[in-house]
Formats: sequence, structure tokens, C-alpha cells
Amino acid sequence: MKDTSKHQGLRNQLASILKKKGITNEKVLTAIKLIPRHLFIDSSFSDHAYQDKAFPIAAEQTISQPYTVAFQSQTLAVNRGDVVLEIGTGSGYQTAVLIELGAEVYTIERQHELFKKTSLFLPKLGYKPKKFIFGDGYKGFKEKAPFDKIIVTAGAPFVPKPLLAQLKVGGMLLIPVGEKKQIMTMFYRKTPKEFEKKELGDFAFVPMLQKKV
Ligand code: SAH
Repeated sequence: MKDTSKHQGLRNQLASILKKKGITNEKVLTAIKLIPRHLFIDSSFSDHAYQDKAFPIAAEQTISQPYTVAFQSQTLAVNRGDVVLEIGTGSGYQTAVLIELGAEVYTIERQHELFKKTSLFLPKLGYKPKKFIFGDGYKGFKEKAPFDKIIVTAGAPFVPKPLLAQLKVGGMLLIPVGEKKQIMTMFYRKTPKEFEKKELGDFAFVPMLQKKV
């Protein structure tokens, strides 16, 4: 695993591109500048790592586009010590950003190959979530609920009820909702029974899978 000054230069460039696209949160930009994204994708494609593009990883999944990761991270407004549930560990890149922002992260992946790969890889880079969970994100993670924030990084055909139920009052669920295209949707839990919903624009994600694990 190698990180060079060339990679650092490319990361700085990527951060300034994201800034131009509307990412203003300095902590998020700093995380982008710190995390060696090229190590999250197959080494033969590492030249693509610092373009603002999604990219294939194992098990027919993708590492999300940097802008999307930055947008979700900024919107989530992570405070140091926030307990965050992430659905869709994938490559672990978004997980690393959340950890850089000071979150205590529980992260769920339903594809065993990716779960195995990322739970070995990420700690080697120094990023240690509270727990890697092999399971179905539609169910959330009741054992550690309620969460300050829940972030879904796959396109959900509908909003899973358990995720709303596992939010703290004052907490936020950020989820891309839709089949082919998704609308980034934010749910803020105002009281135990009331949620405020906001739609934040169109995005494209791989689908949140519903088959049994
Ligand atoms: N944050 C990741 C995004 C990966 S793509 C990254 O930047 O690399 C979405 C991920 O969600 C894939 O790894 C996919 O396997 C996973 N996923 C899909 N359906 C899921 C489900 N029901 N529960 C948990 N993870 C799921």
C-alpha cells in the first residue's frame, strides 16, 4: 500500500473541484485530502481514483462518486462522538470519511465478499469503525439503536421503517430513495412521532438489495 506526493497532489485537486461544486464544509474537504482513495480501488485503475467519478469495486458494486460522498457527509453534519449507522459499507471509503469527521461508526454490508475484504482492509489503513456488520441494512442495527445519524449509500426503493424507528429524537436519516434514479431524502426526527422530510436533489446509486442474506 503506497501513498505518494503525486497522490496527495491529486487529492488536493479533487478537494478543490468538490469545493467548486458546492462542498463548503472544511472538515469534509480535509477528510477528502487525507484519505488515500486510490487504495480503495483495484491498483490497475488507481489513475481513476481522484476523478470525481464512481468506480467498480468487487461483487458488481461501486465506490460512490467523491461528490456524492462529500455531499452526504456535509449534509449529515457529523459532530465528534456522533453514533452513526452506515448502510452499504462497500469499499469503506465513506466509512473512512465518517471516522475522520469523528463519528463512531457501525457499518452494514450484505455482500459477504465485500464485508470480508473491507473489514480486513480498513483497519490496516488506521480506520476502525465500532463494528463491521454482515447483514441486511433494511433492518438497521437494533442492538446499538438509537443513532444520532443514519446514512444509506445504496438506492432504496422505499424508506425502511426500522431505520426511522432507530433514530434518536433530534437525529437524521439520509437516504437516496428511488428505483432507477434516486432523490436524496433527509428525515429529521423532531419528536418520537414526528419527522420532517426534505428532498435534496437527484443522485444515482446502485440498488439497495432486498434478497435475503
Ligand atoms: N459507501 C460505499 C458505497 C458502495 S455501493 C462506497 O463508497 O464504497 C452500495 C453498497 O451497499 C454495496 O456495497 C452493496 O453491496 C451494499 N448494499 C446493497 N444492499 C444492501 C443492504 N440491503 N444492506 C446492506 N448493504 C447493502
